[in-house]
Amino acid sequence: MNKRTLLKTLSGWFAGAALPAAALAAPPFPLKKSEAEWKKLVSPAAYNVLFEHGTERAGTSALNAEKRPGTYVCAACNLPLFDAAHKYESGTGWPSFWQPLPDAMGTSTDFKAIYPRTEYHCARCGGHQGHVFNDGPKPTGKRYCNNGVALAFVSQGITLPALRT
Ligand SMILES: [Zn+2]
Repeated sequence: MNKRTLLKTLSGWFAGAALPAAALAAPPFPLKKSEAEWKKLVSPAAYNVLFEHGTERAGTSALNAEKRPGTYVCAACNLPLFDAAHKYESGTGWPSFWQPLPDAMGTSTDFKAIYPRTEYHCARCGGHQGHVFNDGPKPTGKRYCNNGVALAFVSQGITLPALRT
C-alpha cells in the first residue's frame, strides 16, 4: 500500500466512524429496512445500539443474570445469534459469550475508542451487537461483549420467533 492509498484508506475509516453501524458495515445485508421501519419495530434503546452503534450502560441488562438454557436472537430481525450454553459471567456488566452461532455475525474494525476494536453485527440485518475481545475463556479465548438490549432471549422449549422480513 503506498502512502496515498494509505491516507485514503485512513480517511475512509474515520469518515466511516461517524456513520451508523449499518452503513459502516456496508456490503448489503440480506435484510434491508429503512430507519423509519426499524424504529417502528424496536425500542428507542435498542435502535440506538443496533443502528446508531450505541452502547448500553454496564449492568443495566436483565440478560446479565439470565442463566437458563435457550437461544439469544437479534432484537431487530430475530436471527439466532448465541446459544445460552456459550454464555459466561465475564464480570463486565454486559452479557458475554465465548462463541456465536455459526454464520450469525459479521465483523468490522471500529475506531471509536482510542484503539481499534472489532465490532460485530448480525449477519442478516447488520444490526450492531457488541465488540469481541481476546480475553475470553477456553476453548475460543474470545469474549463477545454484547449489548443486552440488542438481544432477545428465548428459553429452551419455546418456539423461536419467525425471522422478520
Ligand atoms: Zn439481525
